[in-house]
Amino acid sequence: MQELTHYINGEHVKGTSGRFADVFNPATGEVQAKVPLANAAEMAKAVEIAAKAQPAWAKVNPQRRARVMMAFVGLLNRDMDKLAEALSREHGKTLPDAKGDVIRGLEVVEYCIGAPQLLKGEFTDSAGPGIDMYSMKQPLGVTAGITPFNFPAMIPMWMFAPAIACGNAFILKPSERDPSVPLMLAELMEEAGLPKGILQVVNGDKEAVDAILYDDTIQSVGFVGSTPIAEYIYGTGCAQGKRVQCFGGAKNHMIIMPDADMDQAADALVGAGYGAAGERCMAISVAVAVGDETADRLLEKLVPKVEALKVGPYTAGNDVDYGPVVTAAAKANIERLVQTGIDQGAKLVVDGRNFKLQGYEDGFFVGPHLFDNVTKDMDIYTTEIFGPVLSTIRAKTYEEAIGLAMDHEYGNGTAIFTRDGDTARDFANRINIGMVGVNVPIPVPLAYHTFGGWKKSMFGDLNQHGPDAFKFYTRTKTITSRWPSGIKEGGEFSIPLME
Ligand code: NAD
Repeated sequence: MQELTHYINGEHVKGTSGRFADVFNPATGEVQAKVPLANAAEMAKAVEIAAKAQPAWAKVNPQRRARVMMAFVGLLNRDMDKLAEALSREHGKTLPDAKGDVIRGLEVVEYCIGAPQLLKGEFTDSAGPGIDMYSMKQPLGVTAGITPFNFPAMIPMWMFAPAIACGNAFILKPSERDPSVPLMLAELMEEAGLPKGILQVVNGDKEAVDAILYDDTIQSVGFVGSTPIAEYIYGTGCAQGKRVQCFGGAKNHMIIMPDADMDQAADALVGAGYGAAGERCMAISVAVAVGDETADRLLEKLVPKVEALKVGPYTAGNDVDYGPVVTAAAKANIERLVQTGIDQGAKLVVDGRNFKLQGYEDGFFVGPHLFDNVTKDMDIYTTEIFGPVLSTIRAKTYEEAIGLAMDHEYGNGTAIFTRDGDTARDFANRINIGMVGVNVPIPVPLAYHTFGGWKKSMFGDLNQHGPDAFKFYTRTKTITSRWPSGIKEGGEFSIPLME
């Protein structure tokens, strides 16, 4: 059995707390490794090392810091297959999807190569008599991030690449479910030229998270995961005076108008609902068909596509549409919610309950489920299921459909499928959700835009990646300077007016 490590000060370091978590191969159900769970002393050691290393890194000019990012991109491409295989083995997603996970992170690293431009300050010549005023963006110091299991490459990179490009040190506390890829990324960053101690990986659970939240040296905390934990981290981190951004759960609605291209809508739903076994924060989990006739036409196309989905291990290559879910507990939770759907009166039109895969009986596979006649009081509608379960709601009108998405507590992503520009425009303007697709089911913004939901899907002010990340990982200092004559003119006792 492999014993994983932390990555501290450029070295793989064994855990000393005596506590470990099992890391599974979700396809076989076997424990393939154990990951150490750090205690507060181990976290404090990493913070001390980060705090020592960071000032010198902040002095490295932004162009040279960007060159590390450039080299890192090259190494990610060199090791793409290795990274994807390690990712699939612990997460369960298919290899092409695992590569997508790495690539969506890599794109943010590419954006960070623009650090010299993005970190430029502002300057006002002659803001007053003989006075110049300028502002600069300075790094925060030691920063930290806590990431979820579902994108073990992408989300760590969304955090550490801008943090480090801005001149900070970064401590990553990855998900204990799939920690191998984050460890590999830290090694690659050093191979790319990053000094030791600037990117460290400290594995753990709540104990390590609390050590981050209550550490006085750590200046900022980024979190991505479920909403209850996001709320806890946001509240606790802010109360400790830290800068915090937390991204939580989702229940993404796709609205299908009567004039939509039904083939396109059905294809979009099958990919966005079941890809990665529904374990994406931008997965579509609710299809809202406007009108009974639309629902019937949609389901006629959708049902055969859902029934034809191929579920299997990543090792089966391109023959698989999605893999297992991450743990036995996740599988049990999905099955429990499916049962509540049936009990509360929804119609299960594709029943994945008895799904079994020969040779993988102990894997955490869940067959595809499709519900019709879901209503807004049902648990399968109010709860984030995070599995291959799609709910169909029949709305009578467009207003009822948009109202459903607006009233839901989550507000991560949404989409509308229509041929009518006026409806699409109205939807995009009125909806209280952070990321909107028009005939695009998973509207994940690219690296140079920003990513973030609204309502209970996001706590904080600034989004992930794009220009917001460079704001989150720096603070502004504004300097007013006068040389040197005014200094001799005696004191001024009212607020300076620059006249
Ligand atoms: P999770 O909340 O269980 O875990 C996320 C992180 O928090 C992990 O590092 C974990 O170790 C830590 N953690 C878990 N319990 C904790 C506790 N009690 N106290 C402190 N820390 C704790 O989430 P997950 O299951 O890994 O990921 C799935 C969730 O993440 C889903 O809800 C999904 O929607 C959400 N997600 C959101 C986004 C987004 O951008 N909004 C992106 C990806 C995933």
